[in-house]
Amino acid sequence: MSVVPATLNGMSPTVSEQRTRPLLDITRIYYERAAAELPRGQEILARWPGADLVEVESHWRIPELHGDEANVRRWVRIKTEALVLGVKKGVAVRPNGRSADFIAPSTANGCAMACAYCYVPRRKGYSNPITVFANIDQIAGSIHRHIGRQGVKAEPNQCDPHAWVYDIGENSDCSADALVSDNVRDLVDLFKSEPTAKLSFATKFVNRDLLEWDPQGRSRIRFSLMPAPMAKLVDIRTSPIPERIAAINDFVEAGWEVHVNFSPVIVADGWLDEWRDLFDQLDGALSERAKAQLSSEVIFLTHNEQLHEVNLGWHPKAEEVLWRPDLQENKISQNGALNVRYKSGAKRGYLAQFKALAGEGLPYCDIRYAF
Ligand code: SF4
Repeated sequence: MSVVPATLNGMSPTVSEQRTRPLLDITRIYYERAAAELPRGQEILARWPGADLVEVESHWRIPELHGDEANVRRWVRIKTEALVLGVKKGVAVRPNGRSADFIAPSTANGCAMACAYCYVPRRKGYSNPITVFANIDQIAGSIHRHIGRQGVKAEPNQCDPHAWVYDIGENSDCSADALVSDNVRDLVDLFKSEPTAKLSFATKFVNRDLLEWDPQGRSRIRFSLMPAPMAKLVDIRTSPIPERIAAINDFVEAGWEVHVNFSPVIVADGWLDEWRDLFDQLDGALSERAKAQLSSEVIFLTHNEQLHEVNLGWHPKAEEVLWRPDLQENKISQNGALNVRYKSGAKRGYLAQFKALAGEGLPYCDIRYAF
């Protein structure tokens, strides 16, 4: 483990560096040959003609990117400067039934942002820059055929009253991915001609290019929100909360369905007061049209012991609120990792308090899903 840098105003120099670096400044592209041969791969390579090109056998095994989880300063730079171009092998749609009916095959994984609690970096080493998949036609074909097999949705459910909802952003942030390629736009275009289905993704990044896409109500963007003081501590390199709130009306006007994703809810001193403030800010900012179509989901924090250890090396302040053994209990995840979540009895109480507060502050906004 690297030496923890001295902290300045409670923020380590590494955190300050994360905040001030541009989100993307691609100088090196690692590519699988098969990806580079596809039209989407060629487009992406042409966007950064000056980048160094490094051929790799598999986007999953790039030791210089994924190997050293303790070298935090280096992985900050990697997130900004490296891009991986690969081919998605499994393109099957999976059932979900929580926030969405189905999880679509990813068009990317990894992220240029660096939220302290994020599970995305745990899968592929900690730097985990964006890997973009070039076989978009295969991915889009798989989704299209799956939609066709579902027929019309007969019963409303918590995902949507009418449409089958496909989450396309399980392993990345699609708004940031749209800086890199047209993959997300291609799927938004696909869903315009899928009257029985809707695309959906959560995001912490405001990419105003998406306002030009005209999704015709068939795409749902879920802006992730939490109180701004907490976001400043844990949502590193993301768009500030006021910017996300300010984008909602514009996205609604531009033909997007806009929901909010209250996540993660982090229990700390004064947390309910901070959420009350957030609901007030949201209520004050939203147009009538935005309110009329709004819905939400609520996800309480889960954390992970390995991630906790890594975070202590670069952002110990965040761990003071994320790692709370006094409030949390262990949960072994499906892949055997030791996760922690709020103790179930207490969590029921937190959730009831949260719902009551949201009901007062945003009475027009139902909670589709809470976890
Ligand atoms: S924006 Fe999303 S995917 Fe990216 S680091 Fe934050 S939580 Fe993870």
